[in-house]
Amino acid sequence: MSERLSAALQEKLAKRLGFYQDIGIGFFYRDRTSHHGPAVSADAVVSPAPSSPGVTLPKPFQKQQPLKPATAVLPRLDVRPAVRPAVPSLFEAIDKIPDDSLPKIYADLGGDCTRCKLHRGRTKLVFGDGNSHAELVFVGEGPGRDEDQQGLPFVGRAGKLLTQMIEAMGLQRKDVYICNVVKCRPPENRTPEKDEVETCSPFLLRQLDAIAPKVIVCLGSIAAQTLLETNRGISHFRGEWKDFRGTKLMATYHPAYLLRNPSAKGEVWKDLQKVMAVLGLQGKKGSQPGKPS
Ligand code: URA
Repeated sequence: MSERLSAALQEKLAKRLGFYQDIGIGFFYRDRTSHHGPAVSADAVVSPAPSSPGVTLPKPFQKQQPLKPATAVLPRLDVRPAVRPAVPSLFEAIDKIPDDSLPKIYADLGGDCTRCKLHRGRTKLVFGDGNSHAELVFVGEGPGRDEDQQGLPFVGRAGKLLTQMIEAMGLQRKDVYICNVVKCRPPENRTPEKDEVETCSPFLLRQLDAIAPKVIVCLGSIAAQTLLETNRGISHFRGEWKDFRGTKLMATYHPAYLLRNPSAKGEVWKDLQKVMAVLGLQGKKGSQPGKPS
């Protein structure tokens, strides 16, 4: 085994240290020789940045050392416990745009947007549809084939199921707003890639801010992971109330998933009933979406 850190690992480490420096955490010590103190992972040990400026990143380690796993120890004089500062999430850190509106957002986005590679395979950009003052917004992943053809969200098979769900809640499509994380269809309906989500999500954020709904329902993991800035699988938190910039957010399974796994409809219905309780909706008598009533 090589005793030097690989170039890839060095780069990763430098990036990680740069990130900590950016958010105000400095001074890391790599324990090459001493046996003082517990060895802890670089992830676990952070020390608050001192007030003096000029923190520099360590240079990549060049010398050949008898190698122990890369470890870091707290500075000997600093006995304060390791803390992570409260860093606002990416979305929280973005200010709301005063007097923003869906037409303005659409104009800024442009129907001929070429910001990411998804534009190459697009027929129509799918901005979103519904009530611009809706109390309830559904956020999906990205347009599929039918949506790409029509320029409207959720109009294919999954869309029909979503419409049934909305009606079972005692609403109609025109009462709610429906949009997606990415506005252009990914090739072969593949999952949108990170750069595509990052490019498009500021427009989603503006849509949500402009509508200011009472509740956001994320349909599927891409929508939920994007808005909640997590990599956790949706099954870990679906059905639980979350907060998105002060708005209640409920993540549930995507209707396309329900088409493949109809037995999960009951779970989704339970999630939607929680939403209905918050919005004071009675629902359509005796209905569960996808089941004849
Ligand atoms: N799936 C989505 O996530 N969005 C749509 O608009 C259609 C299908």
